[in-house]
Amino acid sequence: MRISVDSDRCVGAGQCVLSAPEVFDQDAEGLVTALTFAPDPGERDAVRQAVELCPSHAITVHDHGQGHSQGRDHDHGQGREDGRGHDGVVVDDG
Ligand code: SF4
Repeated sequence: MRISVDSDRCVGAGQCVLSAPEVFDQDAEGLVTALTFAPDPGERDAVRQAVELCPSHAITVHDHGQGHSQGRDHDHGQGREDGRGHDGVVVDDG
């Protein structure tokens, strides 16, 4: 099981931390951070609960393939930036 969190969506409700304190935490602004992106199988139910309780759908579970996750050491793409801002500013000076 792998997870990701989107602090841009997070509204700081803290439900995830209450549900799975081993997996989620909140930063100084109350926004979600992940303590691990690969929670133990024993955390599975807690993580699922967190996903269900999160009011902003800021938590995503990537649940492909159970059990065989040994030794893959590929690049986790830290700081992946896809430079797409939302710069579609509409100026209405009609
Ligand atoms: S439950 Fe959702 S909104 Fe609340 S802190 Fe966690 S990720 Fe953020």
